[in-house]
Amino acid sequence: MANPSPSGQVILVGAGPGAADLLTLRAVRALQAADVVVHDGLVGDEVMALIPDRARRIGVAKRRARHTLPQDQIGALLVAEAQAGHVVVRLKGGDPFIFGRGGEEVAACQAAGVTVEVVPGISAANGAAASLLLPLTHRDHASMVSFVAGECRGLAEQDWVGLAGKGRTLVIYMGLAGANAIADKLMADGLAPDTPVAVIERATQANERLVTSLLADLGGLVAREAIQSPALIIVGDVATLPAQAKLLANMKEIPCPVY
Ligand code: SAH
Repeated sequence: MANPSPSGQVILVGAGPGAADLLTLRAVRALQAADVVVHDGLVGDEVMALIPDRARRIGVAKRRARHTLPQDQIGALLVAEAQAGHVVVRLKGGDPFIFGRGGEEVAACQAAGVTVEVVPGISAANGAAASLLLPLTHRDHASMVSFVAGECRGLAEQDWVGLAGKGRTLVIYMGLAGANAIADKLMADGLAPDTPVAVIERATQANERLVTSLLADLGGLVAREAIQSPALIIVGDVATLPAQAKLLANMKEIPCPVY
């Protein structure tokens, strides 16, 4: 079917991990041009505040396991709004193409002949890394980095062999509820129980928190610290770098002894 309203279009916009000044200029321009903003639960308040008053806001998904609209209906909604002649911004936490179902929404638009564009966003891993001074790669520690989805469902079917260990960084999205199972899975795959881990809660947001431990203690750490979603788990030697950086910074404050 031909698009009855050629001026309508869909723009998938990466909202980044929370802080508004981590949006791209292109994302801000798209928001300013929006007639309709379809957003999910992970978009931070600072970013939501940039949506113009005249734009209609539609919330379509809440946090983990409390979806308000199934994915195919989100696709249908985007298509219908664009076909009505609107500029539709689909605002998503982080980057639309990292565990954001952006691919499915692009396909829905293409199938309906609706113009679709994607504006990249800073993914949670990149935001967390910068904010905590935790490089994901480092010439001395890791020359490979992988992003995986750690949801409980389907964890057993995922093959992570070789993604974590010496010289490698594994970043686990959506891994909080399955933290125990994730640690067991990685150790069953041969990873040392004393591999460093970091858990980062609400990266780049005002109440961001970093806690660290060893792999065997991952589930215990999450429970003890009552870590809440959204949070990332980082497995590998780079997880020790924020603490080392802090130690060095503190050492600089210690006056040199005078002989
Ligand atoms: N598209 C998003 C990821 C969506 S999946 C991106 O590129 O970042 C949702 C998961 O992302 C959460 O369960 C959590 O693991 C992670 N996440 C998103 N925002 C986060 C934040 N500010 N701090 C830590 N983790 C975050």
